[in-house]
Amino acid sequence: MAYDPENTFAKILRGEIPCNRAYEDDYCLAFHDINPQAPTHVLVIPKGEYISMADFTAKAPPEVITGFFRAVGAVARDLGLEESGYRILANSGPDAHQEVAHLHIHIFAGRPLGPMLMQN
Ligand code: AMP
Repeated sequence: MAYDPENTFAKILRGEIPCNRAYEDDYCLAFHDINPQAPTHVLVIPKGEYISMADFTAKAPPEVITGFFRAVGAVARDLGLEESGYRILANSGPDAHQEVAHLHIHIFAGRPLGPMLMQN
């Protein structure tokens, strides 16, 4: 599957649609989810054109992969989530209901998050 440059997160990266930014560095942009599933729900995205975790880890240069994962940790730290805890999640493909075809890591926090997978 080819990367679609018209996906919502590509538009956010280009500044064509707004976001509520939480953090940004050379490797990532983090912003609050428009439909939060927890009191804190932030999405962390790489700046390059990567569809999924598999695409990113296969194609991105090592320093970009390292920089991105360091940034995910920095976002959680900057949001003050270390003590109370948080969950990170990345949906990939149809079974996981990935809605936006640009790699994104969800960070959920702010209340007890319950079992790891929704029961249904
Ligand atoms: P996923 O199902 O893992 O692909 O998650 C996509 C997430 O992107 C959902 O939680 C949406 O609420 C969120 N989302 C979609 N459009 C926007 C937007 N314009 N700004 C912020 N979050 C968005």
